[in-house]
Amino acid sequence: MSRTKYIFVTGGVASSLGKGIISASLAKLLQARGFKVTIQKIDPYLNIDPGTLNPYEHGECYVTDDGAETDLDLGHYERFLNTPTSKANNVTTGRIYQSVINKERKGDYLGKTVQVIPHITDEIKRRIKLLGKKDQYDIVITEIGGTVGDIESLPYIEAVRQLKWEKNVDILVIHLTLVPYLKASGELKTKPTQHSVKALLEAGVQPDIIVLRTEKPLNDDIRKKVALFCNVDLPSVIESIDVSTIYEVPVLMQKEKLDQTVINKLGLKSNGIPELAAWRNFLNQLQNPKGMVKVGLIGKYVELPDAYKSISESFVHAGATNNTKVDVEWIHSEKLKESNFEKVLRNLDGILIAPGFGHRGIEGKILAAQYARENNVPFFGICLGMQCAVIEFGRNVLELEDAHSTEMNRKTPYPVIDLMEEQKGILDIGGTMRLGNYPCSLKKGSNVYKAYKKVDIFERHRHRYEFNNLYLKEYEISGMVPTGINPESNLVEIVEIPSLSWFVGVQFHPEYKSTVINPHPLFVEFIKAAIEHQNS
Ligand code: GLN
Repeated sequence: MSRTKYIFVTGGVASSLGKGIISASLAKLLQARGFKVTIQKIDPYLNIDPGTLNPYEHGECYVTDDGAETDLDLGHYERFLNTPTSKANNVTTGRIYQSVINKERKGDYLGKTVQVIPHITDEIKRRIKLLGKKDQYDIVITEIGGTVGDIESLPYIEAVRQLKWEKNVDILVIHLTLVPYLKASGELKTKPTQHSVKALLEAGVQPDIIVLRTEKPLNDDIRKKVALFCNVDLPSVIESIDVSTIYEVPVLMQKEKLDQTVINKLGLKSNGIPELAAWRNFLNQLQNPKGMVKVGLIGKYVELPDAYKSISESFVHAGATNNTKVDVEWIHSEKLKESNFEKVLRNLDGILIAPGFGHRGIEGKILAAQYARENNVPFFGICLGMQCAVIEFGRNVLELEDAHSTEMNRKTPYPVIDLMEEQKGILDIGGTMRLGNYPCSLKKGSNVYKAYKKVDIFERHRHRYEFNNLYLKEYEISGMVPTGINPESNLVEIVEIPSLSWFVGVQFHPEYKSTVINPHPLFVEFIKAAIEHQNS
């Protein structure tokens, strides 16, 4: 394969049309034809990364192997492609400006006036090309966040315009817009798309392919109209109709020949059709479940399911693997009280306590851990969820009154969860947690060993607090045991209660590693345990 090709995906008319899913689906199809593909997300906000953003603002913060705190779309990229992303796959305006300003301070611009064009756009182009160079990808797909016409995305569109004119780069622009359906007149409307393409043209960019998000099928007239008004040929007008699961989108895009059109336009050589057997098999299992289990997800951001995106997708993967539909009941931890928790949690086949930060809703999570332990309901605690299980066990089994994490109560008499040594003295909150992949050794015979079927694993982290090893002996004697330990630092990474059917708390985030092709073993086993619980 000759030189890397660059595909840009821009959005128009409205946000949330699914640029991330279209990008991931196209990448999947190209990967399934044998190309090496990666996807990059550009976020036009000024934060350096979404790590400091409240989930209400931005949904989940996704963590890569190399410890970057990134946009949740990177999770989709990994789930679709089954290949890891890295720090270079997420670029923000904050990062771009930070690099340029740092260079200016060092005097690298030799006295020149530093400007958006060319300095900021040069830095944008450098970051886009970095992936092509570094990893020798055949194709780099760059999703530009926001909507065309936004002030903050202008420099990115300008960078695309410049790249189109550079002789030595092959690029293609895909524009995703919405074709609204007007119920009153029973019509699909193309005018917003025409305007959106005009806005792109004003910025000097002619899209090569237009993907139209729609709730009704597009007829030939609509397609012809868009082609005519937006200066593209008919095969470059692609329908993206609403579907019940995002995992159907690659199959739909294949039907619309999006991959074939891209290949033709980029002059790529590819024979035959994408190899999607495993993907279709997954889809088939997903769409034809044999049963259903109800799992409670206890968290404080449940009004916004995007805050737990990777967890809910992991349930989708694990459900399909078990031929079961996982019905997630989103339970607000602030609403769980002594007076109602037994009633609220009674009909669940499994309980998952979500990750989180801060005091809000913590007692509700601790009650949920208590309920799972006392009633032998399959339990999965992730990060803060694991810490809650430890606190609950300390308070109610070891009788350590007011045991807590020092994150929530600095003066607790029993700091069973405490700040990690390496975190002491850190004041900046951005990018300073224990982040990314760390090794963990599993104890043979444990439920987690049964799931992974090996001793040495790597999982991704995002936390500052840890199980306080001063209490380890006491816990072990009373029945909560460490079944996963970091071999280098001795940090407890997993706790289990072996006397119960499936009670597992993990300090890391398994949800970041679950993909369609490799559903995460802990989610698969948790759902299996929930099915068994239902049957008993
Ligand atoms: N707040 C806890 C910590 O920092 C848990 C973090 C998490 O759930 N990701 O250790």
